Amino acid sequence: MNRITSLLASLAVAAGALSLSTATPVLAQDKGTIGIAMPTKSSARWISDGNSMVEQFEAAGYKTDLQYAEDDIPNQLAQIENMIVKGVDVLVIAAIDGTTLSNALQQAADSGIKVIAYDRLIRESGNVDYYATFDNFKVGVQQASSIVDALDMSKGPYNIELFGGSPDDNNAYFFYNGAMSVLQPLIDEGKLVVRSGQMGMDTVGTLRWDGAVAQARMDNLLSAYYSDARVDAVLSPYDGLSIGILSSLKGVGYGSASQPMPIVSGQDAEVPSVKSILAGEQHSTIFKDTRELARVTVGMVDALLQGGKPEINDTTTYDNGVKVVPSYLLEPVAVDGTNWEKILIDSGYYTVDQIKG
Ligand code: BGC
Repeated sequence: MNRITSLLASLAVAAGALSLSTATPVLAQDKGTIGIAMPTKSSARWISDGNSMVEQFEAAGYKTDLQYAEDDIPNQLAQIENMIVKGVDVLVIAAIDGTTLSNALQQAADSGIKVIAYDRLIRESGNVDYYATFDNFKVGVQQASSIVDALDMSKGPYNIELFGGSPDDNNAYFFYNGAMSVLQPLIDEGKLVVRSGQMGMDTVGTLRWDGAVAQARMDNLLSAYYSDARVDAVLSPYDGLSIGILSSLKGVGYGSASQPMPIVSGQDAEVPSVKSILAGEQHSTIFKDTRELARVTVGMVDALLQGGKPEINDTTTYDNGVKVVPSYLLEPVAVDGTNWEKILIDSGYYTVDQIKG
């Protein structure tokens, strides 16, 4: 090739590349559509979960259909059925009631749609392919340990009251059982006393994780059992309940120098609770990085659709009544006044302004 032909050849290649790039602009990949069914926007954690998933799925080349059901079971069912009819490729579901989706999931399976249970296990269905969550038993252990560590156990006994999560959420039992693995031996030894005697998920559960329900129950406990005694600690499984419980306690005068707040736990590191921790009211919460849960879920979906093998690290714990669902469990982190900056700010989860502003 002489110089002129080689120049012409390279010009032709350049022109080809140019026309190629103008004729077919770089399109975002379209690897399919993911239906994401979230329980409610009333708790900030689910908003973070939804946002992180949309962001990460889109970055990986997927379209998303994200729906929130405002804790209404028929509403969530209709949203899921609609996604199936529209022909999504995978369903990612954080169920409101973990037992009511069997028929819809059968339809999904019949249409070849894979299902991932997101954070909450979907029960009584063989059509749940994978489960992405946190170590839920450990969450309970951390909640109870944060309470016990804050009490001087060489003194006491201390009065404690127990709250559980929603009885239709499988996680609630794991949180409660994890917490009781720490608290029950101390109750048996008489170092902790449940004055109300109210124990067990069937007694202390809080339907739909409703803070107002927890507040009303705390009001009743205080008037029935604590008119002449102090409550020293409250096991609360979720920040939204903790806020209700703290309001109830404030209502009867806790939170002053002469009557300090009991040690109250929580979960999710929601902004009002982190602020409450800094104000010396709520004692602790559990941080579950929703960005990480989204990352694990996107990885599972990508493997399912692109022919890989989803990453799992647990094949024994989550029996949904029909099968043991292969799971990936992330690590929860206990947060209190001593480490909130390191865990929540340095990780970029919140800005200081969100907490202190
Ligand atoms: C989640 C918790 C959350 C609770 C209430 C549970 O299933 O695992 O993180 O606090 O639901 O929304």
